[in-house]
Amino acid sequence: MSDIHENPSPQEIVKSYLDVALSQAHEKPANSEQLCAEIKADLKANDAVLVAHYYTAPELQALAEQSGGFVGDSLEMARFGKQNPAQTLIVAGVKFMGETAKILSPEKNVYMPTLEATCSLDLGCPVDDFSAFCDANPERTVVVYANTSAAVKARSDWVVTSSIALDVVDYLDSQGEKILWAPDKYLGSYVAEKTGADVLLWNGSCIVHEEFKSRGIEDLKRAHPDAAVLVHPESPKPVIDLADVVGSTSQLIEATRKLTNPAFIVATDQGIFYKMQQACPDKQLLIAPTAGSGATCRSCANCPWMAMNELDSLAGLLRTLGNPETEANEIHVDSQTAQQAMKPLGRMLDFATQRKG
Ligand code: SF4
Repeated sequence: MSDIHENPSPQEIVKSYLDVALSQAHEKPANSEQLCAEIKADLKANDAVLVAHYYTAPELQALAEQSGGFVGDSLEMARFGKQNPAQTLIVAGVKFMGETAKILSPEKNVYMPTLEATCSLDLGCPVDDFSAFCDANPERTVVVYANTSAAVKARSDWVVTSSIALDVVDYLDSQGEKILWAPDKYLGSYVAEKTGADVLLWNGSCIVHEEFKSRGIEDLKRAHPDAAVLVHPESPKPVIDLADVVGSTSQLIEATRKLTNPAFIVATDQGIFYKMQQACPDKQLLIAPTAGSGATCRSCANCPWMAMNELDSLAGLLRTLGNPETEANEIHVDSQTAQQAMKPLGRMLDFATQRKG
């Protein structure tokens, strides 16, 4: 008797990957409609606006849109918060996004449903170690990704987002500057390869994007040969090498609007599907596999920290806004750190404005 098993079909592979990914999705509370109505009323009553990241749960993104708030990437969120007249910003995302919003709008009150929502890139780049790394390489221009603490930003020369990293490093390279890059090693390697710049890398990574597997994407592509592969550059190189489009969250959403493919294999957090479905309602969106068939993964294309932004905690925060107990949800950045961090942030904002113009 043989114990050789047939390989699963491409459809079975697709299903197993989808099952794993979907099993990770957090469930909406049973009273979500009631909570949403309450949240909208409390936002209005408190002159507060909800600013949500693309990776948060669909119901939160819908709430932000329906209540006059905003859904976007980290930089767009901070810009919206600065330009919106509301005095109170509720940031649904991870802590560095709340800090960036506060640095850009120091006169406003910035709250988050939980300050425990963080990021492996931020956690993996503590300011003391990072400063020592910078001190050991004084000849290099320090470029940090937005996914860092206010203190790390304050130690940098430039802050960049994934949408502008290539342009900034290309510009710095053209000025003859050598780069010290932190914290994401995959994005840093991608930028170095594309620009040819001399880049010294910090060893950090995103626990969500580094789980994407090139073998699984190749299997999925065989089952959906007409699908375009969209990859966020926090992913490992073998995954990036399979991409039809490499880009930031906003750039990947734009790709689903522009490309004519009937389906997309998406290597970034599955929260982005909310906006992608709006951009291409008739197309099929497939989660890029995060592990081999039958294996387990830590993130399954769903950032565990983004998932901490829940309707319950948001409603609870708004119920007590302004009371002493919400102090634990308020973002504070000391003024010296904020002023220092604003310099590299301002450099990026000016650079982006000049590029547009
Ligand atoms: S998806 Fe990755 S980079 Fe984004 S917040 Fe989560 S851990 Fe950080």
